[in-house]
Amino acid sequence: MIKYELKCDKCETTFDSWFPSSKEYERIKKLKLLCCQNCGSSDVKKSLMAPNLSKNKKNFVNKDNYKFYKIRKKIKDYQKFIKNNFKYVEKNFSHEARSLHYGKEKNIKGIYGKASLNEIKELNEEGINTELVPWINDKEN
Ligand SMILES: [Zn+2]
Repeated sequence: MIKYELKCDKCETTFDSWFPSSKEYERIKKLKLLCCQNCGSSDVKKSLMAPNLSKNKKNFVNKDNYKFYKIRKKIKDYQKFIKNNFKYVEKNFSHEARSLHYGKEKNIKGIYGKASLNEIKELNEEGINTELVPWINDKEN
């Protein structure tokens, strides 16, 4: 939907009207179906005001994108930190976490990898602390 401010040439009343699109506005105007809400004249013109898009949809999208971008950046910074400071163990996470916890491997600071929720629950029950981290997989890495 697109909103235009229309102005009557005869009585100079201005009023807003919604159209499905700018093309549709032109079509309706050509057919002389536009008429003044005040005097009924068909000498109605679009005023010079810039058209407003319905509900500022465009702005909302941009705002959301920005928010998402910020969150994404935070997660990526976190990922970077983890990658630099922890050992990646892929799917062996619960095995490696146990090794670490029970002291079989002492040279690593920490590990990260993939684990199912059940595995994490089991680890927690054994007193092994884990932390869930939102993870973004992208092609750059
Ligand atoms: Zn009028």
